[in-house]
Amino acid sequence: MSVTTAFADGIVHNFVGGEFAEPDSRSLFDNINPATGDLAGRVHEAGAALVDRAVRSARDALAGPWSSWTVNDRTALLRRAADRIQERFEEFVAAEVRDTGKPVTHARDVDVARAIANFRAFADVVGAAGQASFLTELPDGRRALNYAIRKPLGVVAVVVPWNLPLLLLTWKVAPALACGNTVVVKPSEETPSTAALLAEVLREAGLPAGVYNVVHGFGGGSAGESLTTHPGIDGVTFTGSTATGSHVMRTVAGRVRPVSFELGGKNAAVVFADADLDATLDGLRRSIFSNTGQVCLCTERVYVQRPIFDDVVDGLAARARELTLGDPLSETTTTGPLISRAHRDKVLTYFSLAREAGATTVVGGGVPSMAPALDGGSWIEPTIWVGLGQQDRPMRDEVFGPVAGVIPFDSEEEAIALANDTEYGLASSVWTSDLTRGHRVAQAMRVGMSWVNTWFLRDLRSPFGGMGLSGIGREGGEASLHFYTEPTNVCVQL
Ligand code: NAD
Repeated sequence: MSVTTAFADGIVHNFVGGEFAEPDSRSLFDNINPATGDLAGRVHEAGAALVDRAVRSARDALAGPWSSWTVNDRTALLRRAADRIQERFEEFVAAEVRDTGKPVTHARDVDVARAIANFRAFADVVGAAGQASFLTELPDGRRALNYAIRKPLGVVAVVVPWNLPLLLLTWKVAPALACGNTVVVKPSEETPSTAALLAEVLREAGLPAGVYNVVHGFGGGSAGESLTTHPGIDGVTFTGSTATGSHVMRTVAGRVRPVSFELGGKNAAVVFADADLDATLDGLRRSIFSNTGQVCLCTERVYVQRPIFDDVVDGLAARARELTLGDPLSETTTTGPLISRAHRDKVLTYFSLAREAGATTVVGGGVPSMAPALDGGSWIEPTIWVGLGQQDRPMRDEVFGPVAGVIPFDSEEEAIALANDTEYGLASSVWTSDLTRGHRVAQAMRVGMSWVNTWFLRDLRSPFGGMGLSGIGREGGEASLHFYTEPTNVCVQL
């Protein structure tokens, strides 16, 4: 009997050529609920042959009926997809909470809400994009009309992480489809469910077979590597760690394929003595602890002007103590577990490194005791350190947990130098009531996204991405249009 739904028989299925693929029993792996440590279900790992089928389906679909869809047809599909996610909102929320353990309020307000916004925003952006044309006159008097047409890049490999699974996936899939590409997506092995559920939604919305394909599995030696090394892909858009991004870049270099990389960060907040203290502390609490610190944009370094250093440290500690760790399905839970025991082990290593470096742990620093039902989860205490040096590893490496080190500074120049003293370059925030200084410092930051008196606030038409180890290229608005299309210039002698 053929598989008809994303989660038939408690298995998360691959989606290839418009159909959910039948698993064979040797290729299943466990999907663990990180809040409890319990088995949430099983996932069908795609072997190299299935990945090959997915890429071939995507390639065939490029030449099929999809190629005659107009931009209006495609943007209408995006809007229908957004409407269908809205109708099935709670199903997506439940799947995301089960895979990640994140609080239901976060899944609703951030993850699934932004997935809908991604489809609508890229329908607007791509729908409104015009063609550039210009007249040329050469010195010999010949005149020509030049115009560029945007063509789809082709088959796009979309590889995404586990921290904001549906949000980051749709951030790439929506513009890719709006621009007429076909995609093969590889969600994280930790969070396969919403990518599979999205296949149902896109099929219901009328997307032709083969345009959206999902292959599940791990990275090296599994579906991730089979996909990014496949000769049939025309480009890779990847969100994940810097180490994996660098590896993927090497694998596609031989075939000179374009890449778009959204990688790690070690983001700084700079707090001046004139900042509105309460508003700043609320903003810092969100930027350090949201999603248990598992957002690439999260702040892990806080530089505070000396006169208010103690106030900021005390205020952050108080806010960390107010966080409620607990059942992700409870409306009052603010903070979920880390994604896995393995990731918690990594974060705990930084707790040890901070202690060895002589840091004082102002709050947190350990594993909390939880109710028996949650005891098997990968819980961690929200943690603030003081006394770390700029060169200590907890201040240099991306920890990707609910942690921050706080360091004092005296002058604006010193604060900028400290914030920019990193090989990453993703995001920063500056907190001050002097707006001129806010603009000045924000512009001096060597990052892709620089906030003033806020964090995470985004207009989806603005460019998103990082410098240095934080990535290559930008996505969002026009930037997505550029990555997901290839222009062909036509020159007509008049
Ligand atoms: P990861 O690099 O381990 O995995 C990301 C994805 O790549 C997963 O789907 C994984 O299976 C796949 N993968 C791993 N090895 C691969 C290989 N050899 N070939 C092909 N695919 C491979 O990252 P993660 O642990 O899932 O996510 C956390 C990281 O993601 C953090 O570093 C975080 O900063 C980063 N991130 C960045 C952004 C951004 O926009 N800049 C957003 C979210 C997360």
